[in-house]
Amino acid sequence: MIKTDILIIGSGIGALSVASELCKFHRKVTVITKALTKSCNSSLAQGGISVALSDEDSYTLHYEDTMTAGCNINDPDAVLKLVSTAPEVIREFINTGMVFDKDENGNLAFGREGAHRLNRIIHAGGDRTGLRVVEQLLRNITTDVTIIQNEMALDLRVKNGKCSGVITRNSEGEIHCYHANYTILATGGIGQLYPSTSNDITITGDGISMAYRAGCRLKNLEFIQFHPTMLTIDGKAYGLVSEAVRGAGGILVNDKGEKIMEGVHPQKDLAPRDVVAREVYAHYLKGEKIYLDISNVKDFRKKFPTVTEICEEHGVDPDNRLLPVAPGAHFHMGGVEATPEGITNIEGLFAVGEVACTGVHGANRLASNSLLEGIVFGKLTADYIVNHRITAEEIADEPSPYTVGKLPDKAEIQIQMMEFVGIVRHSGKMQEIIDWFEQYMPDHKDFVRLNIDKTSNNQYEIYNMLTTGWLIAKAAADRHNSIGAHYIVE
Ligand SMILES: Cc1cc2nc3c(=O)[nH]c(=O)nc-3n(C[C@H](O)[C@H](O)[C@H](O)COP(=O)(O)OP(=O)(O)OC[C@H]3O[C@@H](n4cnc5c(N)ncnc54)[C@H](O)[C@@H]3O)c2cc1C
Repeated sequence: MIKTDILIIGSGIGALSVASELCKFHRKVTVITKALTKSCNSSLAQGGISVALSDEDSYTLHYEDTMTAGCNINDPDAVLKLVSTAPEVIREFINTGMVFDKDENGNLAFGREGAHRLNRIIHAGGDRTGLRVVEQLLRNITTDVTIIQNEMALDLRVKNGKCSGVITRNSEGEIHCYHANYTILATGGIGQLYPSTSNDITITGDGISMAYRAGCRLKNLEFIQFHPTMLTIDGKAYGLVSEAVRGAGGILVNDKGEKIMEGVHPQKDLAPRDVVAREVYAHYLKGEKIYLDISNVKDFRKKFPTVTEICEEHGVDPDNRLLPVAPGAHFHMGGVEATPEGITNIEGLFAVGEVACTGVHGANRLASNSLLEGIVFGKLTADYIVNHRITAEEIADEPSPYTVGKLPDKAEIQIQMMEFVGIVRHSGKMQEIIDWFEQYMPDHKDFVRLNIDKTSNNQYEIYNMLTTGWLIAKAAADRHNSIGAHYIVE
């Protein structure tokens, strides 16, 4: 048994924000992460962070845009907390040494993304914002934080509605049992459940699946945001072409050069993501090739070094001005039900970042609100922990009698997810996918806890994908009307 006061699972912006804030209070923190520290979606984030810091902006406008993008099913209190706390938290972050890009007058440069009514996105290193933020957070943590890499969390240790830590296995095959007073799930989203995704390879829905087995309340799982512009060659996605490229003048065209968003939405190429993704997908299904025409984007290479790098690595020359694109799974609005302070229905268990559903994103996330959520709610979670004493109970871990039978491979799950719970869902087909998942339930009734000794980490990942896919399909089947990212036809 390894004893630690505070245990954080994951090493993205959510995890590191909590950890760096706790350092200010000299609290001992252990961070465990599945691969290397920087293997996370946070490091990949290109566009930036939305925050009402410009002179023309106010958090009320940011609030309204967030609610509108989320189809007004967002939690208004959580949104208000996010947007009103954000300016101060970002200023504090800048004071720790974080450098965001400046305009020619030396002031913060504000970019534009879809569904924002004004320029509100701050960025760093052009489109390297996520990596720069992660690096700064890593600089901000002290020796009070121990980061353990290549160790996968398998199951939470929960009894009588209270969490006492987690069981993990590292890449050497060693199983570790952690006893922690505070356990923070910061495992990110679910992108790898789909065949085309912007997400890091480690993002397989482990957090939602562990939380489900622990008895956590989950929320809004049906809402998955597809990004309209993944660089896609011969049907294979190779990385994201940030929405900021459209913000800077990029236009979606078909192979005849016709602008595909013309007449579809008043905001055209900067319409909400679900609208743009569905339009691109509809053309894609008709066999048309879709391109992002960057002829109007000035200084493309300078402004978008990451996109340039991805293009060139895959034989696409940005100087030809046409980048081949298609949609891919990008962000999960749903997750473990949590307050802005990360509190879940399990005592001692907190959820932060994309794995959490605090209600701020509603049915569709406003672009660049998720890095913000990680930073702001990460800080609020740390503040809560500092001010509330929790002592975890000593519990005995009883081994589960269940093992997995023959599992599908990951590609098979991804194909099923795209077909049945992808960009467009067919109400008449939902039971089919639910049944497909249920054939893999070890006890025929539920995705129960497994015997850890008899299940490898790879089997756990597949099992977590099945569990999370099943939960998403059930949530999608339960919502009968189209709203935001949940688009359902007969
Ligand atoms: C390409 C791309 C571009 C984006 N651009 C933007 C943007 O410009 N602005 C914006 O606001 N948002 C953007 N997003 C979304 C944003 O990056 C994410 O929502 C956010 O970074 C999530 O942070 P997180 O800390 O919750 O999760 P992540 O950063 O994904 O971190 C999750 C961590 O948990 C670890 N983990 C997972 N499972 C386990 C396990 N079982 N055991 C141990 N560790 C585990 C992972 O390895 C990882 O370290 C983008 C996303 C992508 C993929």
